[in-house]
Amino acid sequence: MPHDDTRHPLPPGFRWPDGVRAAALFSFDVDAEAVMLGDHPETGRHLDVIGHQRYGPKVAVPRILRMLDRLRLRTTFFVPGWVAETWPDVVRSVRDAGHEIGHHGYLHESVRGVDEETEIGYLRRGLAALDEVLGLRPTGYRAPSWDMNFRTPALLAREGFRYDSALMDSDHPYRLATSAEPGSPTLIELPVHWSLDDWNRYNYLPGFTSSSPIGRPSEVCAAWAEELDAIVEVGGLYALTMHPCVSGRPARAAAAERLIERAAAIDGLWLATGDELAAWVETLDLPPVLHEPPVIRP
Ligand SMILES: [Zn+2]
Repeated sequence: MPHDDTRHPLPPGFRWPDGVRAAALFSFDVDAEAVMLGDHPETGRHLDVIGHQRYGPKVAVPRILRMLDRLRLRTTFFVPGWVAETWPDVVRSVRDAGHEIGHHGYLHESVRGVDEETEIGYLRRGLAALDEVLGLRPTGYRAPSWDMNFRTPALLAREGFRYDSALMDSDHPYRLATSAEPGSPTLIELPVHWSLDDWNRYNYLPGFTSSSPIGRPSEVCAAWAEELDAIVEVGGLYALTMHPCVSGRPARAAAAERLIERAAAIDGLWLATGDELAAWVETLDLPPVLHEPPVIRP
């Protein structure tokens, strides 16, 4: 079925390649221990928490790579620099399977309330780690915990990133401005949403993160399929974020595989990596969207 532009108009200037009516990015954030160490440093002494997180690189990443191989899907893995340093063989296996590697902080740090120098330090340390372990420079950035501040886009452009995938203000990719100055650099934004994240559906770490009751995999994936159909209908981007330590457990991985098979069978749905999507959107003549802090009048 072609896209119905009268019911669901696309943003001005936006279109997909010929024959495509919507896109899907099935991404994985390989947070491992870093997400807990970054937010709750004391968990470095908690074997139970660390063990839970290590399930990702130890068991889940190999399972997910086998699954993606069966599905013949190349996708994007966002990797904190510390995870690359700590699990070099695991992240090299992801790279060697042909998947894209994106930046995801160094120790999965939040940039809320930090100064610019600190934020640049996180970016550069993450870049250095990915270079050291994988010999690559990522084009994509996903903010740890999707935390961003109003200067983050400009810092990303300065470090040479092509795209970001962390904001929630659109159904469609768009060109993200980095300053009000005409001609200033831009990025491509690949928007996400909490409804398309496995963390709040499944993750249960008593005392730290709670999704209770833990979602039933078939029901979680049914909800994600419902989101998929609606996004295809509006011609948007379906960006699903999964974490190996969360979605890589047997029943969850099996349900995710069925979801991806379902997506692959949708006519005109483009299953792509973040970089492939950003490269396409870069070719469009889209007006840059500048985000500025809200003004509160006295
Ligand atoms: Zn993360």
